[in-house]
Amino acid sequence: MAGLKTVDDLATSLDGLEGKRVLVRSDLNVPLQGSVITDDGRIRASGPTISDLTRRGAKVIVMAHLGRPAGEPDPSYSLAPVAARLGELLGRDVRHATDTVGAAARAAVGAMDGGDVVVLENVRFSPAETSKVDSERGAFAAELATFGDGFVSDGFGVLHRKQASVYDVARLLPGAAGGLVLREVEVLRRLTEAPERPYVVVLGGSKVSDKLGVIDSLIRTADTLLIGGAMAFTFLKALGHEVGKSLLEEDKVGVVRGYLDQAAQAGVRIVLPTDVVVAPELTADAPPMTVQADAMPPDQLGLDIGPESARQFSQVLSEARTAFWNGPMGVFERAAFAAGTQVVARALTEMDGWSVVGGGDSAAAVRTLGFRDDQFGHVSTGGGASLEYLEGKTLPGIAALERS
Ligand code: ADP
Ligand code: MG
Repeated sequence: MAGLKTVDDLATSLDGLEGKRVLVRSDLNVPLQGSVITDDGRIRASGPTISDLTRRGAKVIVMAHLGRPAGEPDPSYSLAPVAARLGELLGRDVRHATDTVGAAARAAVGAMDGGDVVVLENVRFSPAETSKVDSERGAFAAELATFGDGFVSDGFGVLHRKQASVYDVARLLPGAAGGLVLREVEVLRRLTEAPERPYVVVLGGSKVSDKLGVIDSLIRTADTLLIGGAMAFTFLKALGHEVGKSLLEEDKVGVVRGYLDQAAQAGVRIVLPTDVVVAPELTADAPPMTVQADAMPPDQLGLDIGPESARQFSQVLSEARTAFWNGPMGVFERAAFAAGTQVVARALTEMDGWSVVGGGDSAAAVRTLGFRDDQFGHVSTGGGASLEYLEGKTLPGIAALERS
């Protein structure tokens, strides 16, 4: 990948940032319960680029999305609480515009002085943000671009999206990659280009079909794959085991069988759980039990890797020089099914090598289970973006910056 332009380069091309309007795409998509932010990791991670720009005297206009509103204004997805939290973290006043490109946004941006910060309302309140039609996205991006003299792309978690505020705006304004994007890309480059070996990858979570693609390329780069979470059941099924009522991607069983053959030929070890924590229902009060992975009862579903599997996974991780982890090992949101994720997270903090955690839920899981970010080599703000990079795909948000 060509070198990305930095904020320093942007400052040079704009003849200094003092008083200039800089439109920043950040990833502020945090989990909310009502209007309470349950994990502010992405807001914290976005802070340094914004405060760097304010220190340089820029007017900083932040674009971001929250959740998946239906392409129209919806108060439950307002960025107002996020703007407030950003203000607390930056220790300064952060204004929230109550629309994205309308009268409120224009007034807020028009009233800015150098060093001010405005957060525009959720870009996904417009259907054009995520439209598949280039001209629709382009028209929305053109409205956004009227707010900026330059653009800084710092929303790492959305770089794999060809969306107006990520991709199209980058083509309309002089652009640069923010510090967060540069740091994340550097980590991914280190993982793909020269990982110290053994390189162990742990995959889990529930977005199985999204994540299967990466296995193809991991078979070429990693030494060992540890598979937990819901993904494990498609693998167990491919080996001919019954998986009861567990989450299963029936139509992917053939693909997975292919991966198992490919890995065997390449000498890459794929380690599956040998035991599973099951329950009759996720909601049931019935006590969970541990069963062998090749003898899952038909009326139960697997909700965590078992203790024997967790021990084996952490044993493999203790010998790794590089580890990448995406996707919880079980339904960690419930204490009864959090042990596998907890054991794997601890193994990553204890290994001598370099550990990277990626994925929205994975990052939230390590924090809610009581680990600190600095116990890992790197905690990424992006899941899908990291995986697509590791798959060798070109991320639209990066491609657009390279051309700007
Ligand atoms: P990430 O955001 O880290 O990429 P995913 O979004 O793919 O991860 O998956 C996270 C979710 O996977 C969690 O909410 C967790 O409860 C769920 N999960 C993990 N294991 C299982 C399982 N065995 N069955 C159902 N859901 C699971
Ligand atoms: Mg997720």
